[in-house]
Amino acid sequence: MITVLNVDGQELTPCVLDRAWREVNRSRAVWVDEQTIQLLYNPFLFRDYRKAALKRDRYTCLWCGRPGTTVDHIIPASHGGSDRPYNLLAACMECNTKRGSRPAFSYFREKVYSSPYRMKLCFRILKAHFHHKAR
Ligand SMILES: [Zn+2]
Repeated sequence: MITVLNVDGQELTPCVLDRAWREVNRSRAVWVDEQTIQLLYNPFLFRDYRKAALKRDRYTCLWCGRPGTTVDHIIPASHGGSDRPYNLLAACMECNTKRGSRPAFSYFREKVYSSPYRMKLCFRILKAHFHHKAR
């Protein structure tokens, strides 16, 4: 089992190695040593924010229009992006994985001709960057 630390270093429920790697690969956690990860977000708040964002976007991936069950950080958590709903988009697993932690506009350029929500996407990305700078 892997020890999981909160943003403020508090110990949470341990998790299995697979799960730890998943968190790290999604830029949601970093390795402290080979037995410990530290989360870069608050999992309790994030659960609510995540739900709010999915509901707002009607469980539809804004990148491609297919059903979306994951949330994508517009500004990646590893770049200091917030967990608040303004920085989250509903996304399908494929888009989330394909984009990785690339800048949102880089993936947007790839999807601009195929996304049925390009105007909405563009607006959301701009809004997230605006909030991010204003913080
Ligand atoms: Zn998608």
